[in-house]
Amino acid sequence: MINFSETFIYSDQPTTCPECGVRSEIIVDLSHTKDQTQVHKCPNEKCKFEFVMQYDSDFDNGLLL
Ligand SMILES: [Zn+2]
Repeated sequence: MINFSETFIYSDQPTTCPECGVRSEIIVDLSHTKDQTQVHKCPNEKCKFEFVMQYDSDFDNGLLL
């Protein structure tokens, strides 16, 4: 199951699993849509945590300006 109740903001850094820190794999990439969302899965056999990354333009603007 994918936990949509907790959404993470992605940046230009490689995305890592919030549970175990292993670099996650993108299983659904909607970053080119208006939703700007990616679903990631942890490749760690003992973890397999799935989570949603959302691109936050306000957050990004705050960093750039
Ligand atoms: Zn993990």
